[in-house]
Amino acid sequence: MARKEIVDAVKKYTDPFRVTNGKDFRLRDFDPGDTLGLKMGKQEAAQLLDRGSEWLAMEQDILYAQDSWSLLLVFQAMDAAGKDGTIKHVMSRVNPQGCDVISFKQPSDKEISHDFLWRHAKAVPERGRIGIFNRSYYEEVLVVRVHQELLEAQKIPPNLVGKNLWEERLADIARFEDYLTRQGVVILKFYLNVSYEEQKKRFMRRLDKPEKHWKFSASDVRERRYWDDYMQAYDDAIRATASEGAPWFVVPADTKWFTRLVVAAAIVEAVEKLDLEYPKVTSKQMKDLAAARQELEAEGSTGAKKHREEQK
Ligand code: ATP
Ligand code: MG
Repeated sequence: MARKEIVDAVKKYTDPFRVTNGKDFRLRDFDPGDTLGLKMGKQEAAQLLDRGSEWLAMEQDILYAQDSWSLLLVFQAMDAAGKDGTIKHVMSRVNPQGCDVISFKQPSDKEISHDFLWRHAKAVPERGRIGIFNRSYYEEVLVVRVHQELLEAQKIPPNLVGKNLWEERLADIARFEDYLTRQGVVILKFYLNVSYEEQKKRFMRRLDKPEKHWKFSASDVRERRYWDDYMQAYDDAIRATASEGAPWFVVPADTKWFTRLVVAAAIVEAVEKLDLEYPKVTSKQMKDLAAARQELEAEGSTGAKKHREEQK
């Protein structure tokens, strides 16, 4: 399929969920259960996703060969929204050599002794690579905002902790993303939008299945008490940081196959739009290639035999 056709084909899955200007953004306008009226069997959805992953794998190969652009995929969500499963499925076909997944958890002592972007800036993918942030610097305006004792642990000089701290942090994040965008980092941010009710169902299912117990943490359930605070914090974060260069996708997350489809579509679309080509070979390189061919051909079968004998 030609590039333009691909972009046209995936648009219907991405347009409704893309936020590039936060001015009128409200999280509550987005339905976590939305599937755009699509009813798809698990198998059909898996096939479509597989095709998306295959495209992505092909494009990744060119991205790597080009060594110029890089792709940063940021995943944020409440617990049990499906971050891990989405990352696993969408990236299933890409070459692990060109891709890094970094999970950001509570900062270490060393990390917390730096400015809040430090550990993330170091993990931004280098040219030619795909980097996935499983949680990110956004936690600094989410969990840290909801639990202010985390902010106190950051040892910021007291006279810099004012009433505009969160707006300032959001502005810093937006500028950081602008900066990266201008360096050739293509940024896509995904908020997997799971509902309060669906989260409970998924927690219950984890409790019912022994093989899911390792994923269960009592503190996750305690965080549900702060649900509304989190939603407010997400609302503010998306409003302040959605941009053309670093769009948010508010992905419905109550139906897993649909979540994966939208995420895959958004990534395929963004990469296709770069219109990447394998690097053109210069005439000097062409000459070198011809010389290499000649050298190999001149060896003939005797060359390989002689080498084997010399090795004995
Ligand atoms: P899972 O879906 O497997 O539970 P997870 O991303 O929730 O994955 P956890 O180890 O359960 O992984 O949780 C990581 C925790 O680290 C989250 O509760 C998150 O809010 C917290 N965290 C991440 N970044 C920061 C930060 N900068 N400051 C404080 N806490 C943070
Ligand atoms: Mg967790």
